[in-house]
Amino acid sequence: MSTSRRTRVRHEFVDAMPEQLDEGVLYVSVNRRIVLHRCFCGCGQEVATPLAPHEWQLEFDGESVSLFPSVGVWGIPCQSHYWVENDRVIWSGRLSRDKIERLRRREREEVEGIGPEHPVPKKDRRSRFWRRRR
Ligand SMILES: [Zn+2]
Repeated sequence: MSTSRRTRVRHEFVDAMPEQLDEGVLYVSVNRRIVLHRCFCGCGQEVATPLAPHEWQLEFDGESVSLFPSVGVWGIPCQSHYWVENDRVIWSGRLSRDKIERLRRREREEVEGIGPEHPVPKKDRRSRFWRRRR
């Protein structure tokens, strides 16, 4: 487990993505409907999360941003998996890839409103989700 894992990040709203992405910054382009960052484990890999109803959703509360569902990085050795919530990174710990995929599928179902808990406001859905995991 890497010791350079971040727990706090900064978000930046941009029109166009910069050539070089800084570590620990979540670049949000609403125009292009995409969020980019370097993997928060510190490995440097660029991670793209497209914003779309069936992809990721960004929540901006006026001060901080949250991304939903979770971010999983499969194509690189670190295989990081985390949530970004209110400019914080919540690490999922060591889950098997299988388990993470099931979890992500369930999150997506909830986002798309086809899960068993439909209809529940998004905030409630999330806190219930966290309670379940504890
Ligand atoms: Zn990484």
